[in-house]
Amino acid sequence: MGFGWQQPARNLLTYLSARENVELPMQLDDVKTTVRSKRALELLDVVGLADRADFRPDRLSGGEQQRVALAVALANNPPLLLGDELTGQVDSESALQVCDALRAINQALGTTVIIVPHDPLVASQVNRVVTIRDGRTSTEIRRRRSQEDRIVHEEEWVILDRVGRLQLPRAYVNTLEMRERVRLHLEPDHISIWPQEGDERQVMEDKQQSPVSHMWPSAGGRPFDRLAAPTVSEAQSEGIGVSITVENLTRTFELGGKKVHALRQVNLKIPAGSLTVIKGPSGSGKTTLLNLIAGLDEPTDGDVRFGERSLAGMSPQEKIDLCRQQIGFVFQTFGLLPFLSVEENVQVPLRLLLIPRQERRALVDEVLEMVGLADRARHRTHELSGGEQQRVAIARALVKRPTLILADEPTGQLDTLTGASIIALLKDIASQAGVTVVVASHDPNVHEAADRLFELKDGQLVR
Ligand code: ADP
Ligand code: MG
Repeated sequence: MGFGWQQPARNLLTYLSARENVELPMQLDDVKTTVRSKRALELLDVVGLADRADFRPDRLSGGEQQRVALAVALANNPPLLLGDELTGQVDSESALQVCDALRAINQALGTTVIIVPHDPLVASQVNRVVTIRDGRTSTEIRRRRSQEDRIVHEEEWVILDRVGRLQLPRAYVNTLEMRERVRLHLEPDHISIWPQEGDERQVMEDKQQSPVSHMWPSAGGRPFDRLAAPTVSEAQSEGIGVSITVENLTRTFELGGKKVHALRQVNLKIPAGSLTVIKGPSGSGKTTLLNLIAGLDEPTDGDVRFGERSLAGMSPQEKIDLCRQQIGFVFQTFGLLPFLSVEENVQVPLRLLLIPRQERRALVDEVLEMVGLADRARHRTHELSGGEQQRVAIARALVKRPTLILADEPTGQLDTLTGASIIALLKDIASQAGVTVVVASHDPNVHEAADRLFELKDGQLVR
């Protein structure tokens, strides 16, 4: 058995190089020198540290030390590797590298790997997660990655105890606002569970079968004032979109002592109500730029102005509010919750804004109509095609009536035709509803549809 610990140092001697550390257990097992040294290098290669073989632990980062410690644990080729809080002392970037190393170990060596992490980031990376609550196993998540589309299929299982007691995950209970009782119905091969319905009245919306523009009141007519910070909406004379000004924006990451210049002094203006596309090869800084526009990341230098407001001048809470109220997100992988129906997924942002049920219903119906999925409201997301799932994600981004939609490679997982229909929808949202839409994409069809096209290369704006 191989063991990894929260403190990598437990597997490492500080006065030995990484390679010597990995060789040590083999030496204790009388393995020949040449075999030892070859295998040590192979193991360091599996954990991604071939180029660090001659470094002593004190010259390695915490995450790198942990990966060397894993190579040490594997030195004598154990069939099982146990890891206790392996990422407890490292930042999330390094934690992901440790996860990559564990995956490589599992794949290259066939080692069974069992870890107990506290870190949800780590749990999100592995194929199987068993949760222990109150001393007993309560839920299990199984993930499957299909080869061709690289989409992760996820299933969550709840473990029954011997008398048939069932604990629902807290997140589900909260999301569906379940209280003391839930309604059950036994179906031929499954059980449905519903939250208890309140005393709701039918929403009497005069539903007009109208194009996008008629569904969206222009500024001033917004029925849900809490959805827009007045400072922004007042600045807009027509449409609900916001203009974005990026000033001298620079973002530098430190990675293992090296500097990565993700963005260098980028200046650009995004007009309100436009479909603006940022193009550029992978690694050129597109996602970094979207994150900075959303206030999800801090620039190293420079500023973003959201309408008249400068992000640099906002408190962390103001940024969170801005994000929740005014920005809708669309991702390459859709990001829908598999355990919720289409309409429940679309409702999530409204729940975060504490919009009452009746208003939620009306808003959800409206956006599902806009994206052409009114008849799929009760479906589970896995019953929909990729294009339909992306429409659900767009509906979810739209439902809070944002002033800005940020879409990161929204057509990346779709075939050309479906991608074209998604980009047409985003274009309508900009031109007819007046929402500002910013898309990061390397898809030429998306570039064609743009009102404004910017291009990044190595973090610099080249067009
Ligand atoms: P794109 O979205 O165009 O593919 P990104 O914005 O994701 O590009 O990345 C730009 C560069 O910044 C890349 O070199 C990437 O490795 C680096 N980078 C992005 N995020 C981080 C991070 N959190 N830490 C270190 N480097 C990062
Ligand atoms: Mg990206």
